[in-house]
Amino acid sequence: LRSKKEELQAQREALPCYEARDNITAAIMANQTTIIVGETGSGKTTQIPQFLYEAGLTKNGIIAITQPRRVAAISIAKRVSEEMGTRLGDKVGYSIRFDDTTAPSTKIKYMTDGMLLRELLSDTKLEKYSVIILDEAHERTLRTDILFGMVKGIQKERKDLKIIVMSATLNAERFSQYFDGAEILYVAGRQFPVRAFAPGAQLEDYVDAALVTTFQLHQEEPKGDFLVFLTGQEEIDNLQKLIEEQARDLPPKCPKLLVCPIYAKLPTDQQTRVFNPAPPGTRKVILATNVAETSITISGIRYVIDTGVSKVRSFNAKTGMESLTVQPISKASAQQRSGRAGREAPGFCYRLYTQAAYEGLSEETEPEIMRCNLASVVLMLKASGVDDVLGFDYMDKPSRTSIVRALEQLYALGALNDEGGLSELGQQMAELPLDPVYSKVLLQSVKYKCTKEVLTVIAMLSVDLIFFSPNDKREQAGQAKKRFMNYDGDHLTLLNVFSSFQTVHGDAAWCAENFISARSLKQVQDIRRQLVSFTSRQGIDTTVSCGTDNLEAVLKCFLSGCFQNVAMRTPDGSYKTLVGNQAVYIHPSSVLFLKKPDAVVYNELMHTTKQYMRNISIIQPQWLLDVAPQYYGRAAARTTG
Ligand code: ADP
Ligand code: MG
Repeated sequence: LRSKKEELQAQREALPCYEARDNITAAIMANQTTIIVGETGSGKTTQIPQFLYEAGLTKNGIIAITQPRRVAAISIAKRVSEEMGTRLGDKVGYSIRFDDTTAPSTKIKYMTDGMLLRELLSDTKLEKYSVIILDEAHERTLRTDILFGMVKGIQKERKDLKIIVMSATLNAERFSQYFDGAEILYVAGRQFPVRAFAPGAQLEDYVDAALVTTFQLHQEEPKGDFLVFLTGQEEIDNLQKLIEEQARDLPPKCPKLLVCPIYAKLPTDQQTRVFNPAPPGTRKVILATNVAETSITISGIRYVIDTGVSKVRSFNAKTGMESLTVQPISKASAQQRSGRAGREAPGFCYRLYTQAAYEGLSEETEPEIMRCNLASVVLMLKASGVDDVLGFDYMDKPSRTSIVRALEQLYALGALNDEGGLSELGQQMAELPLDPVYSKVLLQSVKYKCTKEVLTVIAMLSVDLIFFSPNDKREQAGQAKKRFMNYDGDHLTLLNVFSSFQTVHGDAAWCAENFISARSLKQVQDIRRQLVSFTSRQGIDTTVSCGTDNLEAVLKCFLSGCFQNVAMRTPDGSYKTLVGNQAVYIHPSSVLFLKKPDAVVYNELMHTTKQYMRNISIIQPQWLLDVAPQYYGRAAARTTG
């Protein structure tokens, strides 16, 4: 029997990148910048950093590998530390927001693109690093796009810095052009044919279709695991429950089903489960977000079920509204998804959308920078010493309107001064690992003397699904939620939930009785701890509390950051946003759903059939003048008469 170590080594050696090892290492050694293209699963992310480590490139600095997603950074760092036979956090570590496992001994550091951007604030030349690998470049996330420009600039002054751009799709000329004609290295991939199927007519509900397809295939098709692409935690949790319920009714001779979810906010210990092979006589059903498209590779998949959608951030530069929307994927994504079924043997992809719908998809996903709010990035650029944000060396330049919008928002938040430079508040905001809106909220809590409460609410808001509501127990779940209800809205309701949870010391039975997700609340505790440590590093006392009599202060803090997210009730009972005058609706999950107050602040908009406001609280319109005088001087005067 082979030892675990030999087993891992044999797996490494079977990867296409391993075969190309000498060529890859030689090309990187010979060039300042190298572009590497290779099929998903060929070993780019796990192997190339190890080659460079073994080739001695970490003598004068460490290797950074950026990932758009935290789940990927965590699971890959774990895998590579195993392959290298070291403890995670020693030679190999990861760094993501709210969680850094690296040590002074770390040589290979997997990190989110956001974390590397953050490091630029204190280390403008990235002196720690000898190699920067920008991975998953084909995804063109906002932060990776900004990093392209930043590292390209740094390399002009630091000739010793090696840049490697890695992509899973073939069209890498764009990257090469941008990096002054850098060499492109293609790693020969292995890919088995995948047969794609599409329904004859458009399906009503893709989650339901995924459920039906799962059971049909499970009963008809020979062994091989399933991978289902969904848009987020809520859908994944729902489908998991539905599959587990129905799986109880399978005929006894039918193999068992094991559902393994994977999404960013899943606790780390549970993320690892997707990589473990299913026990004998069991078929694994992996329910994944886009992370399984190219970032992580899971063995054993023969069948892909593709809903054809993903959740993306989009931003309307005219109205200034950003929302999360479920949108059709691109053809390039659809091909990547189906490719996941053909890594080890010929496979099958069941698209839950028609061939005509497929033909109608755009060729490629639009870079995120073209469709989201740029405020956090502009703040980051300013804090890293890039004054001319309009003239920055973007790979694809966002519209002038959206850059100007971001500058205006930062100015209104008080992050920029009249000359467009960073204010003292802006400097502090940039140092917090939060969106500028929440940095402002947190910093204002000092003035309003409610830092303790604000920290809790921010932590609660950064986790989805605090409450759960099983189909057969909706009534009880609704009753349970009433126990925590604060009639001023969701922010203070969330505060109540957390306080009660602390009072019972996170008791699991209590959570179950109250239909509260213990898993989510544990995450909240963890995030809150991290926030406390970042905030106290800024010299802020995190224990200052407004008590229970002055909770209005908490709402004012939120309004001071989210002052653009205000909606007013119109005479017919519907809501219109104060900025942009758009029709919006109270999400049914809000405690204010039936109450319909005159004026509300909301945390985010979610676009499904309508624009839904989520996490909402009642405000007094005159507060707007206190919290955002530059911005609301006129608008508030108008609405309050
Ligand atoms: P690429 O970056 O080219 O897509 P990776 O380096 O991520 O490829 O993956 C190479 C191989 O390593 C995959 O085929 C996968 O089987 C294996 N692998 C990666 N991460 C893990 C993990 N956490 N557990 C088990 N195997 C893994
Ligand atoms: Mg990879």
